[in-house]
Amino acid sequence: MRKIELKQVTVQFNQKHRQTLAVDDVSLSINQGEIYGIVGLSGAGKSTLVRTMNLLQVPTSGQLLIDGKDVTNVKGQALSQLRKKIGMIFQHFNLIQNKTIGQNILFALEAGDYPKEKRQERIEELLSLVDLADKINDYPRSLSGGQKQRVGIARALANQPEILLCDEATSALDVETTEEIIILLEKINRELGLTIVFITHQMEVAKRLFDRVAVMDQGKIVEENDTFSIFGQPQHPFTQKLVGRHMNLVLPSELFDQFDSGQLLELTYLGEQAIEPLISLISREYPVLMSIIHGKIEYIHGKAIGRLILHIDGEQAVIDEVVRKMATKVDHLRIVERQEAL
Ligand code: ADP
Repeated sequence: MRKIELKQVTVQFNQKHRQTLAVDDVSLSINQGEIYGIVGLSGAGKSTLVRTMNLLQVPTSGQLLIDGKDVTNVKGQALSQLRKKIGMIFQHFNLIQNKTIGQNILFALEAGDYPKEKRQERIEELLSLVDLADKINDYPRSLSGGQKQRVGIARALANQPEILLCDEATSALDVETTEEIIILLEKINRELGLTIVFITHQMEVAKRLFDRVAVMDQGKIVEENDTFSIFGQPQHPFTQKLVGRHMNLVLPSELFDQFDSGQLLELTYLGEQAIEPLISLISREYPVLMSIIHGKIEYIHGKAIGRLILHIDGEQAVIDEVVRKMATKVDHLRIVERQEAL
């Protein structure tokens, strides 16, 4: 079932001397219960896009559908109802500093008109869900970043939303705390059936958490696929660059200086296929010199993606033949050009 749909959504900011097309004709649909991520560089328009999903940002044109219903122009009571359905967490947590953790959550319950007599019980229930039951009377300043984000999550869930929007929710956290928050979000997704939309520039988080990924560049979604395919077989040059950087496969230009002949190849193989037999076979069968420059295996949702950078030297006609042969044996083969170097 489609939970959220954007149809040709555009957001344009008009300032005195400048117009910014932050979101440029974006259409996408997000299914009930999935963890959908939007990745891209800073300034790509991710934050603006995710804010159209709870109408914190009204689209300049286009439509927002929630549960199949067009809500683009809802106001007043209907808008409050919509916002109750959609919780949100932020990079810098946005907690009220002079209220205790319990009061922070109470504030959200009051805003959502949660039945008065059940509020205290709900606060305790939410804090135990995020494992912070003992912090109810503490103030935000006494908490670590990860704990603050847990409070942010508890608060976002206060009024039993069906959707959780996460705006760079792990970008201010260290690696271990990020992992903690990822585990918590997975639990919420699984146990409460919440649909999660997460925007981030952190490919590490995308790889770990998302079911599907949309890649955003200059206001547009340039590619969308399941997470394994985005990392394993990126199609758009921008996605290839993002993934390549993440895999640490961007080569320093000095490396190219070392080789005044031959070619650099990037091989991608998906699944548990072993690559060494292919390399030794080629070395035996063809008069070429091959050396492994760099290699890495990543696991996404339990499935392997291997990448290898090879240098191959010899007569050009033989190299061409080897490249053709190898291309039939791996999932993807690419000649790395010098201008791709850092
Ligand atoms: P991201 O979340 O990918 O970093 P943003 O959505 O924050 O990108 O920003 C996209 C573009 O829109 C940027 O050029 C940014 O400067 C601009 N922008 C965002 N919000 C506003 C605003 N309220 N007024 C004017 N320009 C804005």
